[in-house]
Amino acid sequence: MLAARWHGRGDLRLEEIPEPSPGPGEVLVEVERCGICGTDLHEYHHGPLLMPRRPHPLTGRTPPVVMGHEFAGRVLLRGPGAEAPREGARVTVNPCLPCGECPQCREGKTYLCPRLGSIGFAADGAFASRVVCPASSCHLIADELPPEGAALSEPLAACLHAWHRGGGQAGEAVLIVGAGPVGLLLLQVARARGAEVVFVVEPYPSRREAAEALGATAVFDPGAEADFIRFLLRETGGVPLVFECVGQPKSLETALRASGRGGRVVVVGLFSEPVPVDFLRLFAQEKSILASCAYTDEEMGGAVALLGEGKVELGPIVSGTIRLEDIVAEGFETLSGGSSGQIKILVDPAD
Ligand SMILES: [Zn+2]
Ligand SMILES: [Zn+2]
Repeated sequence: MLAARWHGRGDLRLEEIPEPSPGPGEVLVEVERCGICGTDLHEYHHGPLLMPRRPHPLTGRTPPVVMGHEFAGRVLLRGPGAEAPREGARVTVNPCLPCGECPQCREGKTYLCPRLGSIGFAADGAFASRVVCPASSCHLIADELPPEGAALSEPLAACLHAWHRGGGQAGEAVLIVGAGPVGLLLLQVARARGAEVVFVVEPYPSRREAAEALGATAVFDPGAEADFIRFLLRETGGVPLVFECVGQPKSLETALRASGRGGRVVVVGLFSEPVPVDFLRLFAQEKSILASCAYTDEEMGGAVALLGEGKVELGPIVSGTIRLEDIVAEGFETLSGGSSGQIKILVDPAD
């Protein structure tokens, strides 16, 4: 089968590889859609980050590895001892591979597992027509849910985790800095969880439009509206809960300046460089910076539930579906441009 394998920085290759077969406790899933994630782009341009440099302690894998961790599909085959889900079941898969034995895992904080791996990095992923995954990582999805939505379960779970990390509460004002796929999903999580006022800051017009379409209270262009922070401080007295979804020094500064006394700034964006932070200002106003990276399996279930309840609109987020053959030029390279107007690109690897 054809697969997109990461060989090194800037080196994602389409290659014919043998079709995988499920081992004990595993299932073989036929992939319907797999999303290209910011983490994938980061790995492509700056890796190895999540790609193991040494044989991964849980999977023994080193690159080349098939990328792709945001996927949904249909179970084709069960390995020995895998009782459910049955062949034909539609599933989305929690790609996290925690060890299950360390103190963090036993406490239920699998996202803090020191040996945490992920399908698409420490094991072959879903930029291929078929992928093997632990049967216990599968979440059943309704037949009515379109594959585009099902493939967004994983980033949505990351957003639910960010919401929980920030201690989000109904009725609280929220600011989202950056309206890429994560920012736009977080906007919908915030609204679904009862946030009445959700502000968004985003430089790209197509993303501002998407945020407006998804019900943001007000959307600011940081280039054109230089005093939007003053506006936010005046309107809210300082935003209590801010999500930084970009990973740039400027966006972190915006998030920190717009946050209020005792405010929480949840960092979801991926930074490729260290950034200076004015801790004196944080200190005086007792603000918190919280990092949010992965999620629990319960949060994955919560994401599937939100999608099933129709609480997440896909239209403004999914900007294109491409064939696996085109993944580098029309997927990774297009998204890396930033100004292309694309938000989330999904791969349909059907062969
Ligand atoms: Zn992702
Ligand atoms: Zn662990």
